[in-house]
Amino acid sequence: RRWGFSLAGELRQAAARDPDRTAVVDEHGTCTSYATLLDRSERLARGLRSGLGVRGGDRVGVLCRNHSGLIETMVATTLLGADAVLANTGLSAGQLATVAEEQRLRVLVHDTEFADRVLDLPAGVRRVDERGHADLVTGAMPGTLVPPARGGRTIVLTSGTTGTPKGARRPTPNGFGPLVSIIDRIPLRVHDRVMIAAPLFHTWGYAALQVSFALRATIVLHRRFDPAAAVTALTRQHCDALFAVPVMLQRLLEVPPPRPRPPLRVVAVSGSALPGALSHAFMDVYGDVLYNLYGSTEVSWASIATPADLRAHPNTAGRPPHGTRVTVVDAAGRPLPPGRVGRILVGNEMLFEGYTSGAGRERHDGLLDTGDLGRLDTDGRLFVDGRADDMIVSGGENVFPSEVEDLLARLPQVREVAVIGVPDDEYGQRLAAFLSLHPGEHLDPEAVREHVRQHLARFSVPRDVRFVAALPRNATGKVVTRELRHPLD
Ligand code: ATP
Repeated sequence: RRWGFSLAGELRQAAARDPDRTAVVDEHGTCTSYATLLDRSERLARGLRSGLGVRGGDRVGVLCRNHSGLIETMVATTLLGADAVLANTGLSAGQLATVAEEQRLRVLVHDTEFADRVLDLPAGVRRVDERGHADLVTGAMPGTLVPPARGGRTIVLTSGTTGTPKGARRPTPNGFGPLVSIIDRIPLRVHDRVMIAAPLFHTWGYAALQVSFALRATIVLHRRFDPAAAVTALTRQHCDALFAVPVMLQRLLEVPPPRPRPPLRVVAVSGSALPGALSHAFMDVYGDVLYNLYGSTEVSWASIATPADLRAHPNTAGRPPHGTRVTVVDAAGRPLPPGRVGRILVGNEMLFEGYTSGAGRERHDGLLDTGDLGRLDTDGRLFVDGRADDMIVSGGENVFPSEVEDLLARLPQVREVAVIGVPDDEYGQRLAAFLSLHPGEHLDPEAVREHVRQHLARFSVPRDVRFVAALPRNATGKVVTRELRHPLD
């Protein structure tokens, strides 16, 4: 497997074995076959080389929503031995300029709708919009692509919620390890029809794409996630699987009836915590089809909860799949027994190869420190409490926002909730809860506090309770706590 488990490698294999099978169906129902997708990617590669001088080792930025043009750009770039840098569509003009400089981009391929965000790029970065992309594909000179001396890489940028986005180099493992580790737990099959709703620029969407290519699946891809359109397409396109981020499940449940019930066998979510109340509410409507993957840009996926795991323990992130090790350690790096909370370490062949800045992440005995805290139960199931940095210390007591959030999410009036720590003169930090309610519902702040008081310790009760129309979220559905914090500063 010369190309390892890479997008270009999987696309080549799929195009050779199933050239006429539809690779991508867009929101208008337009189909692109595997052979055409590869052909367009190869033409684009030649166009990027002859038109823009892209060579092995160069970096090409990609700022696109979910469509086949993004796939073509990623594949074309790696076919040239260049690196594709996947930017989050939520980045501001300033962040993009910084990224372009730090990543030394030669070209930025972007959707036309983002034209005004790429005006401040450093001089020398060539911009290619959708028109330019089409011209490069159609105008490419005939010819063959010589396999590059150096394999092109994919660099995924973190979302930048905590500063400038960091570039994480994805590995290209040899063999089928990553695929096996997914189908070990999730009943996906060759030639499945799948919808990838998670953004392709994010590790989870990207991983879903790789796995779909490896299964020679037909991928339903909508530029933007529109819940009503998604339900219709899942049904009309007879989708077997949906890859999403947790908040999308909430949105699917809110689609007003009559809504068809898509014939899904698998709904796999990752990217942020899946609230326990949501996992059950979703399975009550869609059946026992839900899989929760815990992972990150740095470790890809580390554990998978099956529907049976979620029925028994709604909050679990499941067990590590084949080829993955997960341990929970104390501050000194010593493994902790079941039930004790500590740092989550992960080892698998999908660990990232480091940040492009040269910085790494702490490793212990080949395992990577995820920066998350959690615990294992006696059956080896993982429970993720959240990022160590998000833990709230109030009056010397540790509180995980996720614990209070899960509790409040069980109130029937609550649509979504986020809990953060804010500075407090007396206690160091105090808890603030932000709730958005279902239409027509009402809740008293004191009732919210009382609900927490009944179930958790006194120091877990949020002093500030605010009601908001909706929580600010990034493109992967994570709550942007910086924006919540702002009015309280
Ligand atoms: P940034 O670090 O800038 O926020 P990002 O949003 O791109 O970057 P990811 O690497 O995708 O970050 O986020 C991974 C984190 O999301 C994990 O470390 C964990 O905290 C959380 N997470 C992901 N999946 C789950 C899950 N199934 N259950 C609980 N937490 C999860």
